[in-house]
Amino acid sequence: MPPADRPLSTALAERRAAHLYRERRTVDAPAGAETVIDGARLLNFCSNDYLGLANHPQVVAAFHAGATEYGVGSGASHLVTGHTRAHHELEEALADFTRRPRALLFSTGWMANTGTLAALVGAGDAVLEDRLNHASLIDGGLASGARFRRYRHNDVDQCAALLDKGEANRKLVVTDGVFSMDGDVAPLGELAAVCRARDAWLMVDDAHGMGVLGDEGRGCVDAAGLGVDDVPVLVGTLGKAFGTFGAFVAGSDDLVETLIQSARSYIYTTAMPPAVAVATLASLELVRRDEWRRERLAAHVERFRAGASALGYSLMPSSTPIQPLLVGTSEDALAFSAALREAGILVAAIRPPTVPEGSARLRITFSAAHDEAHVERLLDVLAQLAPRFARAVAVPAAE
Ligand SMILES: *Cc1c(COP(=O)(O)O)cnc(C)c1O
Repeated sequence: MPPADRPLSTALAERRAAHLYRERRTVDAPAGAETVIDGARLLNFCSNDYLGLANHPQVVAAFHAGATEYGVGSGASHLVTGHTRAHHELEEALADFTRRPRALLFSTGWMANTGTLAALVGAGDAVLEDRLNHASLIDGGLASGARFRRYRHNDVDQCAALLDKGEANRKLVVTDGVFSMDGDVAPLGELAAVCRARDAWLMVDDAHGMGVLGDEGRGCVDAAGLGVDDVPVLVGTLGKAFGTFGAFVAGSDDLVETLIQSARSYIYTTAMPPAVAVATLASLELVRRDEWRRERLAAHVERFRAGASALGYSLMPSSTPIQPLLVGTSEDALAFSAALREAGILVAAIRPPTVPEGSARLRITFSAAHDEAHVERLLDVLAQLAPRFARAVAVPAAE
């Protein structure tokens, strides 16, 4: 071992002892209701492929066609020669979908969030974020150089009070639309009112609502009846319900032009492969058209909540396909996940620091790729495991 690595092995051993060690699984199957890991076929309840589009034949065919037309790599950044007709058409389609003047593609949601935050605010400005925001929003806010404050989860009054306190040139309030580890939806109408009254931008990252919630899957912002004046900065990701890869920011012409001029994670990176844009255009069509996918998803969620609460499990206040079961300690969450896997069901244990201390959980997610029998199978196994793992666990106050 190189001597400089010694502190790394000490830190890794400590992490393992605290039940916080993270491990990858090597998957031998396409996205779908079932997966294969280490030769074992497992029912998959932890993917973000909410609509079952990641392996849809039309999306796969579009990807092939895109590769035939454009090859694999885009060859350059968007500002050099990487911005193909396919990227451009997808941006126009996403602007239409989100009912905003413009949309701008980024290579990942992480890059969309960090690049947008740094482009909009800096020294002399203020950023306020929900404590449970996605890591990319938190890191982007911290790195922006603006004064950074967190408010308690969904606490609109505290957000307003923090906006009123302290001098700031530009002000930006940032929230997940659907919270990725809890599944609840932000109080968007109230946040928008608070922001409008104080001349602050509201930025909503709807990675988990886009495609899943609202008319044609337009997401939680549209479902709340909010337009571009209420939520000037709307972020969507394409790797979840859309089943492909990448992300976008939708908003005004000036917003998008500002990002093109100065979002560093937009400028200094290779454009996504054009075939991904072609595949996403196909998946967007299915997202808008196939209302049955959202209906099926909602039925799974309803059945699961009724079944799991009858078994005595601690559910969280979520009506989205993200349905966490609170466990408490990291050790118990790992044991619960291992017991499910033993029974042929894959659900990842989510531990701190991804979630607050004492609120380790299993994050169960549903997909339109599941059928009713899959949900019943999950409930059967949860019934067998209820004596070990069903118990009331309070969510620790997010302070
Ligand atoms: C997944 C996720 C992201 C990151 O998107 P990627 O395209 O996977 O980088 C950003 N925000 C939220 C809320 C997410 O859940």
